[in-house]
Amino acid sequence: MSVLVLVEHEAGVPKDASLSTITAAQKLGDVHALVAGSGAEAKQAADATAKIAGVAKVLLADNAAYTNMLAENVAPLIVGLASGYDALLFNATSIGKNVAPRVAALLDVMQVSDVLSVEGPDTFTRPIYAGNAIATVKSSDAKKVLTVRGTAFPKAAATGGSASVENASGAGDTGLSSYVGAETSKSERPELTSAKVVVSGGRALGSSEEFHRVIDPLADKLGAAVGASRAAVDAGYAPNDYQVGQTGKIVAPEVYIAVGISGAIQHLAGMKDSKTIVAINKDEDAPIFQVADLGLVGDLFQIVPDLTAKL
Ligand code: FAD
Repeated sequence: MSVLVLVEHEAGVPKDASLSTITAAQKLGDVHALVAGSGAEAKQAADATAKIAGVAKVLLADNAAYTNMLAENVAPLIVGLASGYDALLFNATSIGKNVAPRVAALLDVMQVSDVLSVEGPDTFTRPIYAGNAIATVKSSDAKKVLTVRGTAFPKAAATGGSASVENASGAGDTGLSSYVGAETSKSERPELTSAKVVVSGGRALGSSEEFHRVIDPLADKLGAAVGASRAAVDAGYAPNDYQVGQTGKIVAPEVYIAVGISGAIQHLAGMKDSKTIVAINKDEDAPIFQVADLGLVGDLFQIVPDLTAKL
């Protein structure tokens, strides 16, 4: 079976989520990786992708139309390449979830979303009901289009491979959309979805000032990323891109520290696969304690600064 993975990259470096998708792809067959972009950064990303263990070939589509991974331009590129592949794999990220459905629709096949495991060439598991049940799905389509949940697969080694890099081309700019700009938050902290430790704050923090006063120093001491519940985000205590959960980011760090978070199922859907969960909550009956490995019952405004001071 031959498999094509769309590699997401930034500043010439393949993203961690793509390394996980490459691991998933290896369970299906020979892995080719598509790097779409333009100029020196795309070339650098293609060269880096060629070194990823398990990648047999890299296709580099160098065109200004692919610089910002606009789905309207990238999807036709992939459809043009699809005849050579049995499966097309994408990260279950904003970009992957934008491109994959268009590819599936253009190929007139179904998409299997958020794949957690590869059980066979046509059989996959995926979460349903916000992760409260796992469905095993079998696709009878000749071509599989999958989005892969990064936290469910280990990252392929970034080095050790020596794939060839070939040029690929597509239609370029379809004129259906244009890139206006991106406003991204800059942080010295690790990226939320790939951090080893995450400290998340909830509604209990009460304000943006208190959120940052209490959560940030603990995160800094631990070299952790900062997350938040939706209630904290909706209340403006934390930025949108901090949100962990069903409608936020899916994380599975070594350690997840939930501070003043009740543990609603929609929050658990985004973090319950964390290796060790620590909960700090003044209500000993809070549902978060049902998934926590370690629990501290008490006032977070006391516990967190004490803990931070002791580290
Ligand atoms: P609360 O539920 O209000 O909990 C606050 C907790 O803090 C309580 O347990 C309380 O005991 C504790 N507390 C209060 N004061 C202190 C103190 N001084 N010290 C210690 N503990 C204290 N939520 C998400 O997080 N992510 C999602 O992606 C998400 N998606 C959703 C999608 C849908 C369709 C819907 C309907 C809801 C979604 N939600 C999501 C919202 C979710 O249902 C909850 O409302 C939300 O997670 C609650 O956030 P919270 O735990 O911070 O707040």
